[in-house]
Amino acid sequence: MLLFVINIFISLVYCYFYMAHNMLIIQKRDLTILFAEALNVNEINGILLYQTREIGAGHADFVVGIILTSVGSVSSVETDEASLNRLNRCLTSLQNKYHNLGYVEFHTHTQATIARYGEFYANNLSGDDKNKIFLGVEHYVDYRHLLVSPKALHLFTVKRNSIVELPWDDYGFIQDQNADVDSLRSSLSVELAEYDFVFEC
Ligand SMILES: [Zn+2]
Repeated sequence: MLLFVINIFISLVYCYFYMAHNMLIIQKRDLTILFAEALNVNEINGILLYQTREIGAGHADFVVGIILTSVGSVSSVETDEASLNRLNRCLTSLQNKYHNLGYVEFHTHTQATIARYGEFYANNLSGDDKNKIFLGVEHYVDYRHLLVSPKALHLFTVKRNSIVELPWDDYGFIQDQNADVDSLRSSLSVELAEYDFVFEC
């Protein structure tokens, strides 16, 4: 019986630490940009920059900008080291200046990817994608990855050493414009102007 109780306790602690992602709130105009990118031929990757804010009794991560890291091909997208270094420099300087900033990585599976490799990739990761997600988790404790296809958004993370999809209704939300988020966004776009890989902020 004691063992049973201890097991339940461990499971609860585990759930608390491993299910503690905030809801990610994406504004409609960002969604429009992401879906438009997924209609192109070449895959892209980048990050959704968010700020964590209190909402009701909890917290939510409001996307305040999209940063493009790389443009790939119809088959894949890789980030070269120079772009990654620039992105890291950019993130560090922003995080020093603005509070509670974090990021969700994303990449697209485009209409052309799906036409060439099959409908499966409209909703699923490739083997390479999975390897990158495992690497991402090693570097960022709140690591999440968004797969964008012309038809859907899929948000992934790692739990118990396997990749799981976070149900969109629980962990993601689409919102119309938000004045607060817009004001942060305007300050950020000034900061980000020097980075030429920024296409929207
Ligand atoms: Zn992929």
